[in-house]
Amino acid sequence: MRALQYRRAGAAPEVVGLPDPEPGPGQVLVQVTAAGLCHSDLALMQLPAERLRFPLPLTLGHEAVGTVAALGAGTTGVAVGDSVAVYGAWGCGGCPACAAGRENYCPHARRLGIHAPGLGAPGALAEYLLVDAARHLVPLSGLDPVAAVPLTDAGLTSYHAIRWAMPALVPGSTAVVIGVGGLGHVAIQLLRALTPARIIALDVSAEKLALAEAVGAGEALMSDASSPQGIRDLTGGLGADVVFDFVGTQATGRITVECAAVEARVLNVGLGGGAMAMGFMLVPFGMSAYAPYWGTRGDLTEVIALARAGGLDIRTETYTLDEAPLAYERLEAGKVIGRAVVLPGG
Ligand code: NAD
Ligand code: ZN
Repeated sequence: MRALQYRRAGAAPEVVGLPDPEPGPGQVLVQVTAAGLCHSDLALMQLPAERLRFPLPLTLGHEAVGTVAALGAGTTGVAVGDSVAVYGAWGCGGCPACAAGRENYCPHARRLGIHAPGLGAPGALAEYLLVDAARHLVPLSGLDPVAAVPLTDAGLTSYHAIRWAMPALVPGSTAVVIGVGGLGHVAIQLLRALTPARIIALDVSAEKLALAEAVGAGEALMSDASSPQGIRDLTGGLGADVVFDFVGTQATGRITVECAAVEARVLNVGLGGGAMAMGFMLVPFGMSAYAPYWGTRGDLTEVIALARAGGLDIRTETYTLDEAPLAYERLEAGKVIGRAVVLPGG
């Protein structure tokens, strides 16, 4: 099969030929119909070799939908031909967190060498993806594969983040979304669908600000040092009740804390490498901060159910496997509108 691999630290990913994988006991072979590109892939490819927790080469891609192509011995729960979305935050499967579907917070995965596909295990930017267990598949329920694939991370991570912030997203509240990319443009729509909060979006690109307004933000502001004041002006001086930082740099961490209201819930979702202040008199009274990772199995089922109910407008740009390196370049340059999706069979 053909696959896009990150082969050497610091080098651009390349398309290579690999043997078709064969499912072992309990495993499922999925023929990938669509795979999404995430900014986390760029963060991974920017790590120095000594910080990688797995050997190279690595087949990239951690957002996947596809068709069940073959089952390993003893695998039950799915059938050949089923259309499925892949839950990628694989855990050990046996601990209390995994039993509750919170595999994204499995405390054993790292020690046991269990990696997510595309983030250590062979990923979805290939014709076939080996899924370690049927519990990591959710029926696609007739959704369009291209529009649905961003749900498995951009949608799932945003949904999981919003669920934590929900107690603060009451009528009259304000939510700030920093970074209107793959995740941010879905988060705005989930906020609209699930909460009555007023939404203020921040980005550094005028095109992304227009996208934010098109998908449901009430206001969209340029992201810079003046943003906290802009947000206070819009909220009668109170600030934001919830801040989602989908960038995670020093600059956006500062905006987050400076625009937060008393008792705000703030979330650092982005992997920008920045730090956010925490300490008495450094942040508003009663502020709580959360660094969420991906989402739970239940969250994925729910976000797919929400998409099935209609009303989500997931923006995508599609690419062939050969064009995937170019798509990553566009993502790095901030040029992708919504999510870049690769069709490995296309
Ligand atoms: P993306 O590249 O699609 O979007 C990033 C957006 O941020 C772009 O629109 C860009 O213009 C904007 N931006 C850049 N600098 C900014 C600034 N200073 N202020 C405001 N906006 C700015 O990325 P994505 O795939 O949506 O991912 C977003 C972040 O979330 C990445 O850091 C990614 O690694 C991370 N992520 C985290 C998790 C998790 O589980 N915590 C899961 C998925 C992605
Ligand atoms: Zn991701």
